[in-house]
Amino acid sequence: MRVLVVEDDPQLGPWLRDTLARTFGSSDLVTTLDEAQAAIAVRGFELVVIDRGLPDGEGLTLLSQLKQQRPVPAVVVLTALDDPIDIAHALDEGADDYVAKPFEPTELVARAKAVLRRFLLDRGSVVSVGNLSYNIFDRVVCVDQQPIVVPRRELAILEAMIRRTGYVVLRETLESATYSFDDEIQSNALDVHVCRLRRRLRKANCQVALRPVRGLGYLLSAD
Ligand code: CA
Repeated sequence: MRVLVVEDDPQLGPWLRDTLARTFGSSDLVTTLDEAQAAIAVRGFELVVIDRGLPDGEGLTLLSQLKQQRPVPAVVVLTALDDPIDIAHALDEGADDYVAKPFEPTELVARAKAVLRRFLLDRGSVVSVGNLSYNIFDRVVCVDQQPIVVPRRELAILEAMIRRTGYVVLRETLESATYSFDDEIQSNALDVHVCRLRRRLRKANCQVALRPVRGLGYLLSAD
């Protein structure tokens, strides 16, 4: 589990890093927004603890960058004021929890653990076949943990199939998952999309088989 601490206080920062490293295994400390952005850009973190008052700006501005990460890290914001409006603002911006300063070490660790537990439960929404995984929650497809881009209709097909791995999925089921009521569907459109999806997965070195079952539909299985 990787943790990033973004805190400029010379005492609190190293202390947070060490405390969280003891609990979660590994933790990095940065002291400015700039450094935080650089760290997030090169490495994935499961938990990020952010101080709001940083030398080069407001810690909350990191939230939009963090929410684009896959998987999305859990974020705990440290607020200097135990001010309800301040706290609501942090949560509105996408923080998962907050801890008001001054805080007890045990409180921070307990909050961080609770947030992470919730996140890991959400990851229960990940379905895998072979080296392919799909997160139903944020609709991200990964091969060997690396996200790959799958266009909308192919994603709909994949989603319908991966939930029924090892079973034949009927054409009608796939068509209704893939097209809206207003779409005009040509008779071979589904097969074209399945074919593209199969090619895309193969190109990504995905070890799954997506086979046609004559007269019925398709079957997805580990290869
Ligand atoms: Ca500060």
